[in-house]
Amino acid sequence: MNIPFDNTYARLPERFFAKRAPARVPAPKLIRVNTALAMRLGLDAAWLQTPEGVGMLSGNCVPAGAEPIAQAYAGHQFGGWVPQLGDGRAILLGEVIGVDGARRDIQLKGSGRTPFSRGGDGKAALGPVLREYLVSEAMFALGVPATRALAAVSTGELVSRETSLPGAVFTRVAASHIRVGTFQFFAARNDVDALRLLADYAIARHYPEAAGAVNPGLALLQSVIAAQADLIARWLPLGFIHGVMNTDNVAISGETIDFGPCAFMDGFHPECVFSAIDRNARYAWGNQPSICQWNLTRFAETLLPLLADSQDEARSLAEAALDGFGERFHARYLAGFRAKLGLSEGADASGAFVKDTLAVLAEHEVDFTLFFRHLTRVAAGESPDALVGLFPSRESCEAWLAGWRSVAEPAVHLAEMRAANPIRIPRNHRIEEAIQHAYSGDFAPFHRLAEALAHPYAECAETSDLELAPLPHEVVHQTFCGT
Ligand code: AMP
Ligand code: MG
Repeated sequence: MNIPFDNTYARLPERFFAKRAPARVPAPKLIRVNTALAMRLGLDAAWLQTPEGVGMLSGNCVPAGAEPIAQAYAGHQFGGWVPQLGDGRAILLGEVIGVDGARRDIQLKGSGRTPFSRGGDGKAALGPVLREYLVSEAMFALGVPATRALAAVSTGELVSRETSLPGAVFTRVAASHIRVGTFQFFAARNDVDALRLLADYAIARHYPEAAGAVNPGLALLQSVIAAQADLIARWLPLGFIHGVMNTDNVAISGETIDFGPCAFMDGFHPECVFSAIDRNARYAWGNQPSICQWNLTRFAETLLPLLADSQDEARSLAEAALDGFGERFHARYLAGFRAKLGLSEGADASGAFVKDTLAVLAEHEVDFTLFFRHLTRVAAGESPDALVGLFPSRESCEAWLAGWRSVAEPAVHLAEMRAANPIRIPRNHRIEEAIQHAYSGDFAPFHRLAEALAHPYAECAETSDLELAPLPHEVVHQTFCGT
């Protein structure tokens, strides 16, 4: 198979990356290949499953046309500045243009050390690879911009974490891997030439309309702010918590990237956090909009030299652009929740009913996904018993329900409710179950979950068990990045 790579990032100056071939692994074995995505990329899915194809997906064979590199970037991690991060366990094989005309990166994650590995081994354990596969594909199926999973391969070697774990390589596909941290890397070095190149590159690749603007740097900033506002406004109504919203994990493209200890909430609470490393709950569900704005402020700072000749003017342009974030986010966030609740815009223009609803859900830590799933059934004329059953007492639900009936127009908005309220999300305990089975050699639950999550809004009796909230002993309280 000849893959028509066209590697534009590798043609940028050498200080943007380090050339590094993936490490060889002893016994690669394909776990799963994403046939639909392969086709979209113009790759032969059958070939990807041959020894040659698995050779590429494991890093054992670099295909003709690939130019493997590890990308340089910096970032703020939990608010603390780290001047050099970079791809410590990822290698970009190259870019391909899909049958849809879109350019995408193909990257191996867990394929060995690079000059950016710092203390790490450059490897990935099987669990985090399966987790990223499941959650990134679930996000895509839910309609949220996200990097994709092309394949997962086990390597036949052990990686050393708290215990020894089977190793794996994940093949990630992304609109690009340019991060806020990529801009920060050059800004911190006062490398304005590189910043200019990177901004032009990002504009050409993601926001070509910005090239024709009076101030292309400002147009880039505004575009990224809009994309991120829209993205976070998609996360929240799904109960998604990214878990590590460091600036190095913010993609300029507006895709959700770096699925580490991310999770979907079961019981709702705005302060909900799963990531074991997020000790101060910096990245809790309800903090994500303000953290996003903080991250975008760091992005804006890197662009100041490109915005205007005078510092003051650059600053005021950046501030005005950043001021637009809140309004854009809030409008989309409210629209998202109004769709979930079957409300017309005029029925809750201020968002007060959305706010009250979330307060009621938080008070009883009602299962977030099931609440909206059962509400959709009530809207369709079914009995409210399942909805009521999510609350500790009938009264606590019925008071809310009476309020809902007085503002909602379920008959008018049923289709929107169905499109906004998924039936299946990747629940923590199901991901954990799939991972534990995989560690003992049984990949069936992983495959079953991956298939069910590809159709999150469709009724499916055979997978109804995957809709259920965890039983008390099944609840997963913490998630890990596994690096
Ligand atoms: P992440 O948690 O994926 O955002 O990673 C943060 C930084 O740590 C990035 O620079 C990664 O490349 C690096 N990193 C994470 N895990 C490893 C590992 N096992 N070996 C080397 N570098 C790693
Ligand atoms: Mg990262």
